[in-house]
Amino acid sequence: MSVFRASYADLITSRPVVTYNHVPSMAVNGNTKPTQSIHLDIDNGLFTNNQFNGQFVSRQDHRLYEFSDVPAFLRGNPFIKTGYRVYLSRRDCFKSLFIWSNESINIWSHLLGFIVFFLLMLYDNIFFTQVTRGTFSDRVIVTLGLLCFQFCMLCSAGYHLFRCESELTDRSWFAYDLTGISVGLLGCYLPGVYFGFYCLSVWRDIYLIIVSLLFVTVMLCQTDPRYYSEKYYWSRALLYCGLTGYGIMPTFHWIYLSGGFHTELVQMFTPDVAVVYMLGMTAFYFYITKTPEKCFPGHFDYIGSSHQIWHILIVFSFLWWHKSGYDMLLFYKDNSCPVPE
Ligand SMILES: [Zn+2]
Repeated sequence: MSVFRASYADLITSRPVVTYNHVPSMAVNGNTKPTQSIHLDIDNGLFTNNQFNGQFVSRQDHRLYEFSDVPAFLRGNPFIKTGYRVYLSRRDCFKSLFIWSNESINIWSHLLGFIVFFLLMLYDNIFFTQVTRGTFSDRVIVTLGLLCFQFCMLCSAGYHLFRCESELTDRSWFAYDLTGISVGLLGCYLPGVYFGFYCLSVWRDIYLIIVSLLFVTVMLCQTDPRYYSEKYYWSRALLYCGLTGYGIMPTFHWIYLSGGFHTELVQMFTPDVAVVYMLGMTAFYFYITKTPEKCFPGHFDYIGSSHQIWHILIVFSFLWWHKSGYDMLLFYKDNSCPVPE
């Protein structure tokens, strides 16, 4: 296993040319190799070239590496054994969009997700009045929800595309990625609360204020650098679970205010809420457990890994939720506001 004695962040913020030691623990034949030196030329804070395992690696080199060869900041999942991009400049990271690596599906799933939500936003705004007979406020909420989804998709795609550049870049984009998840959840809550409490304006405003406060709190947490550390992995996971799970409270309140489970509105839309929670929980299960690659390490490096499944399920849950909001708005326009018994 390779051991790097200096972190990339240290290197980036220090002197322009750095030499440090690469110490392979054991060679293939069982003999320890002599210590090798890695020369890193740093230009404006970025790697220009280096010598790695005795081979020259240029910034234009799109070679893929194995888990044991990549620096610690790229070792998030020990069950993904091959297909790592590393030491790429920002430009080459961008070019690597078209290289088949273990990040390809992570990048493209959310890049395509961004395009889908962007096109939906155009469609909704062009045909909104004809299709839904909605008001200007309805259109603003639908558009805001889709903008949140687009932001989430772009942050995620950017993180997976550029994280191989350096540890500093990885950390910066990881912060964007987590912010994107929070904003994506906000994109679920805004139309969810707005359309759920469409006929109950006081409760709608109260829940919109509560949701806004929750998101401001999460954003404040994200200003602390410790929030992104490995030590706080489970705290972060719990925070997002709490943020998502909180939605159950207004859901039951909405069922009660709408007249209970036997009303047409509740019977039509409670399954929609159940489906979006099922999708979210399934996605979270894959994310946390690293299934299926944990059972078959190295077999899902390029296709079928847990993170790819998480990405795809998130896109589907956003799409489902958008459609549910649309259906609910159409229901109100066709049936007017139901009167609770
Ligand atoms: Zn991701």
